[in-house]
Amino acid sequence: MPARKGADFLKHLKNNPPEIYHRGERIADFTTHPEFKGHANSLAGIYDLQWKNPDVMLVKDDETGEMIGRTYHIPKTAEDIRLLSQCMLKIADFSCGMMGRSPDYLNRAMASYAGGWKYLAEQDPRFGENAKTLHRHLSRNDFCMTHTLINPQANRAVSVAAQKDPYMGARIKEERADGFIIRGARMLATAPVSDEIMVFPSTLLTSNPEDAPYAFGFCIPSNTPGLKFQCRESVTYNPNGYDHPLGSRFEEQDAVVIFDDVFVPWEKVLLYKNVEVCNRAYAASGAVVHMSHQVLCKNVAKSEFMLGLASLLVDSIGIEQFQHVHEKLSDLWIAHETMKAFLRAAEADCHLDEYGVMRPAWDPLDAARNLFPKTYPKLVQIIQQLGASGLVAMPTHEDLNGPLKEEIKQYYQGARVDAYERIPLFRLAWDASISAFGTRQALYEYFFFGDPVRMAGALVKNHPRKEAMEKVQHFLSKMRDEAESEASKPRQTVGA
Ligand SMILES: Cc1cc2nc3c(=O)[nH]c(=O)nc-3n(C[C@H](O)[C@H](O)[C@H](O)COP(=O)(O)OP(=O)(O)OC[C@H]3O[C@@H](n4cnc5c(N)ncnc54)[C@H](O)[C@@H]3O)c2cc1C
Repeated sequence: MPARKGADFLKHLKNNPPEIYHRGERIADFTTHPEFKGHANSLAGIYDLQWKNPDVMLVKDDETGEMIGRTYHIPKTAEDIRLLSQCMLKIADFSCGMMGRSPDYLNRAMASYAGGWKYLAEQDPRFGENAKTLHRHLSRNDFCMTHTLINPQANRAVSVAAQKDPYMGARIKEERADGFIIRGARMLATAPVSDEIMVFPSTLLTSNPEDAPYAFGFCIPSNTPGLKFQCRESVTYNPNGYDHPLGSRFEEQDAVVIFDDVFVPWEKVLLYKNVEVCNRAYAASGAVVHMSHQVLCKNVAKSEFMLGLASLLVDSIGIEQFQHVHEKLSDLWIAHETMKAFLRAAEADCHLDEYGVMRPAWDPLDAARNLFPKTYPKLVQIIQQLGASGLVAMPTHEDLNGPLKEEIKQYYQGARVDAYERIPLFRLAWDASISAFGTRQALYEYFFFGDPVRMAGALVKNHPRKEAMEKVQHFLSKMRDEAESEASKPRQTVGA
């Protein structure tokens, strides 16, 4: 089957709904539910987008010759990387960078595991073959995935294996000839409305040998029997796209994943019980590099959106002459340019890895993924500080036709815009910065790749900084040599 269109995605979702619970009810139809249809329609929009830009967003499947989504492609050349960036930028622009789990994010992960199948085959040749077969299955059906990596936040003072309840974290309960059974939970899975779920080890946190029953990587349909998703309360206040411009469209949901004796067939398994192999899986296969590439594209789009939004706010209420406003706009511009520069560097220094897959350069990607969690909350704060009371003063769409219609026209004007232009702009700024949707985005970006505190630890461990130290050593030795040579000269006594 070639790459999907939006209608194909919605049809498949309607016929194969995952077991998702929200505010005490099981959601029967995501395509019509007021708090889920926005996300379902946005996903459909992304599938339609690819057929509107086939040159950039689609690519020929090597074996079938059919067009598949480019983000499932295993890149072999620098041009492939450049086209991937263009494709992922288009997807990110679609949601103003607000859909952190647009399908391309995990498509990149699966393409990487298929490209780096030899790493998985080292543990078990079946797992290497499974990665290739799964990739074919997912790319040819153009499925979208959710994923879950982290164990529930019960007691962080001890490992998952040492929790009071051994089945708190999702754990292998029983091994069978045809697969195994999983019981327990994982936290979280953003975008549970999906075709399949990747249940993998953390990209960041390493496990100990006693965690072996919790160490695995597999991908199964999201509607597999026994798999349940418990959502948080939706941040879509109402499905009205005018009042709640971002939340009504791009609320992805976050869910705790419950494995109620879920059967996982061997054909779906990529990693199993080998803690050491699991700990290195994302780095060794290249998956973390290709996922970071996708995330950086999103952050280029997201920082540009925040820059554009702030600039329009400034313009609309005539605050462009104030010095601190310049500083804030320059911070936004620098954030965007920094993300663009990291992307360019990652593309420019791409190289073939040991599996013959073209990888964007890791150092700029790692720098970008460590910087953005600290940058994004600042961008949100700038929107808050520039928008000020205007962010909490805007009427709803209903008010525009209500009894105070004329007063609204008069009192909601801006410096260079009328009320009908200013109100939606400020509603958008409100949704990006202080609504439940906006504040959840700030938390999301902060924890996007894991706890930034522990990410810094991994960064220090993985980047030796030898060259920088050698340069300083060189300067120090010059200092010492010069001091010694000074000391060896005969002393001149002052006043002699
Ligand atoms: C909006 C959102 C969406 C998410 N979506 C997904 C998803 O789709 N899939 C997925 O797998 N995960 C997802 N996550 C989970 C994300 O990976 C975690 O939030 C992140 O790894 C941090 O883990 P935690 O939330 O369990 O925090 P914890 O590990 O419980 O940390 C809580 C606090 O304790 C501190 N702390 C805990 N342990 C240590 C330690 N050993 N050393 C130093 N400090 C420590 C942390 O710094 C933090 O301040 C999402 C999270 C958020 C907020």
